[in-house]
Amino acid sequence: MQRTDRRLTAATCLVALGLVVGPAAAAAPPPGPAAGTSSAGSFEAPRDNLSPAAERAMLDEIGRNVARLRRAGLPAPQRRAAAVTYDFPLRLAPGLPGEAGHYVSALADHDPAAGKVLDYHGGSRTYDSHRGIDIALWPFPWNKLDAGAVQVLAAAAGTIVAKADTNAADRHCGNAGDGGDWNYVALEHADGRMTIYGHLRHLSLTAKAIGQTVARGEVLGTAGSSGNSSGPHLHFEVRTKSFAQEWIDPFAGPHSQAESLWTAQGPYIDPAINLLAVHEGPPSSPDPCLPSVTRFKDRFATPANVYLYAYYRDFQGALPTEVRVHRPDGTLFRSWTYSDDTAFVRASSHAWVAQLAAGEPPGAWRVEATYNGQSHQATFTVEGAPVAPTATAAPTATAAPTATATQVATAAPTATAIQVATAAPTASVPPIAPASPTAPIAPTASATLIAHQLLLPQLRRGR
Ligand SMILES: [Zn+2]
Repeated sequence: MQRTDRRLTAATCLVALGLVVGPAAAAAPPPGPAAGTSSAGSFEAPRDNLSPAAERAMLDEIGRNVARLRRAGLPAPQRRAAAVTYDFPLRLAPGLPGEAGHYVSALADHDPAAGKVLDYHGGSRTYDSHRGIDIALWPFPWNKLDAGAVQVLAAAAGTIVAKADTNAADRHCGNAGDGGDWNYVALEHADGRMTIYGHLRHLSLTAKAIGQTVARGEVLGTAGSSGNSSGPHLHFEVRTKSFAQEWIDPFAGPHSQAESLWTAQGPYIDPAINLLAVHEGPPSSPDPCLPSVTRFKDRFATPANVYLYAYYRDFQGALPTEVRVHRPDGTLFRSWTYSDDTAFVRASSHAWVAQLAAGEPPGAWRVEATYNGQSHQATFTVEGAPVAPTATAAPTATAAPTATATQVATAAPTATAIQVATAAPTASVPPIAPASPTAPIAPTASATLIAHQLLLPQLRRGR
């Protein structure tokens, strides 16, 4: 059960960020989206490693709690109760942009032999001796952790039979060992099975006490990286009885049980876009254990390079991504289709640059990306530089024309700048010089910009 996990490397994390590489729009009159793509590569998913002693201590604690609750009147589960099925135990906090903030990073290991792995489906989407389901935060996992952006939900109604929130060190990174106790909640359900939710963020746990009941879908806390965890994720585990050693894989499959414990078991591979986002330049992650510098932006003054990122889970390159960029009046600015030969990557991103020439109309632009049958949207605003300003908007009006005039000269090197960013992705200082003059600080933040900033409350805070 012991293992040494490789520390997240800077290179890994940068791959995870999917920095822009490849052919930018060199042949680009008229300006349009560069057909640039990120190199995919695999993101090193977080792992955990609960030692046998820690696991025993947790189960003993749960056992004592259950015995005490029984004496206090908690009814014992009915032996023949119908199996309780589970809803997915994570969600992006309401109000945040994006479709999802997570992906299944590891399943349970059904091969008892040391050094060998086998997931329920017959694949290797697990690691040795792993007894639960790991669901990792993506994209920008540390930003999400700090913002409490991913909520852990009760998979079904149940009674809290254990909870612990003793470890303030909830940002454990790198080797999965030596993380101390994890913060967790355990629920007993009507059929006697128990679900465990581990690695929670400190001080995020439900205020309800041991012995109280929770409803299906009730928030139990937010995902973190407390305990033996190499990065932000939830460890979700099912036990056959409240204080039994036996674990059970909720997934049905050829190497698991025949009947799924999920209310609606998802596909083994679930390709989707978690987030379609607009940036002023490539995001960076100077420290793989700290929040990324996301560079989200939703206001631009033309000419502008608008960086469009699709953050995927379970990416399969053969599935086309159809991207369309619409002007405020609904006319199509550009559309393109992206696919590549990537067989499968658990978490990746791809980026394109929409080059907006001076004179493109002001207003709300809309980006639409369709992947694997699902459509996603993002918007950005082109500021109305050419529009006659009102008297009160004088400061904006004076700034914008200047930027527009100077940007004509810098429009050509844009493609070069993208390549520079690719060559030196570790630079913590944004290397894209042209992006700055094109994008004066927006004097009026929009509602969507504020929403994005919810993901970034701790960019300046230490670990
Ligand atoms: Zn785990």
